[in-house]
Amino acid sequence: MKTGRKKIVISEFMDAPAVESLRRHFDVHAHASLVDEPERLSSLLADADALIVRNRTQVTAALLADAPRLSVVGRLGVGLDNIALGACSERGVQVFPATGANAAAVAEYVIATSLMLLRGAYLSSAAVAQGQWPRTALSNGREAAGGTMAVIGFGGIGRLVARLARGIGMQVVGFDPQIPADAACWQETGTRGMSFDDALRAADVVTVHVPLVESTRNLLGPAQLQRLKPHAIVINTSRGGVIDERALAEALTQGRLGGAALDVFADEPLKAGSPLAGAPNLILTPHIAGLTVQSNERVSTLVASRVTNALLAGEHDSTTTKEH
Ligand code: NAD
Repeated sequence: MKTGRKKIVISEFMDAPAVESLRRHFDVHAHASLVDEPERLSSLLADADALIVRNRTQVTAALLADAPRLSVVGRLGVGLDNIALGACSERGVQVFPATGANAAAVAEYVIATSLMLLRGAYLSSAAVAQGQWPRTALSNGREAAGGTMAVIGFGGIGRLVARLARGIGMQVVGFDPQIPADAACWQETGTRGMSFDDALRAADVVTVHVPLVESTRNLLGPAQLQRLKPHAIVINTSRGGVIDERALAEALTQGRLGGAALDVFADEPLKAGSPLAGAPNLILTPHIAGLTVQSNERVSTLVASRVTNALLAGEHDSTTTKEH
């Protein structure tokens, strides 16, 4: 039923208090399952003013065509590779990501998995409880302190990772072609900016924080993996497609790499039978690096407020236009 209020459709999970805050001003249709119900989604979008998504809803030109009134897309996260930005801008649809709101969660994931994989000693509970004592096997772990973290992509998350890595005594080097060598962020975070290849060669841990765009696809392929030290750890929380999964699995299996943590995959969910299955020293997580109780709250609150401001400003604009 049309209420005269602007309509918001939320197609994936959003923190309840933030949804309630939207209901104060708008007619809100929030169903976490909508992402898997394309027909219901497109019918709800027929008269919607705003759509709020996570990373699974594909905001394509076709979906926009089903939503002629849409003026705002809220993204409960940071990466925008599931949103056709060109089509949105042609239509005048504004896109609001939750910039910065899940950076702490991702950065802590990077530090935690770095420490786990460098040391290699934290998964012995079952063996120790059963009376085994794998002390010799587990006594060759590495300390992070004194080692080098290479941060590839030095935006919001990369910079926070650099600060945390410095906090545990690591040297930090970074590569980002869009940040000039004299930019303040290098010095402020105690990071030495360098070329991609030099950063790879220097690294005990490489962590990738770039958007998925054509120029970053397979950024870490077989040739780049070969430049790494044989004990180096690779961490990818950015997007699948940035690392060649087959080449990574081969490097791990052949002992040319110390370990890897992957939170994101070229195809999500990862299909059974992936070359990654069974590779050693590999931590796989289901795209949760940015998800914590606190980050969910921050992300949802930020997107709710950005979408509210944009829709209310739009109401003000159209009132103003009518008045004059
Ligand atoms: P950001 O836009 O602040 O930073 C990205 C940086 O990458 C920019 O500084 C850009 O100049 C740099 N870059 C672009 N192309 C590059 C290249 N070829 N080589 C090196 N650097 C390059 O983004 P952010 O907030 O730091 O997030 C980074 C990515 O992390 C996002 O695009 C998103 O896909 C991903 N992410 C994942 C999760 C998760 O839960 N796994 C959560 C948040 C963000």
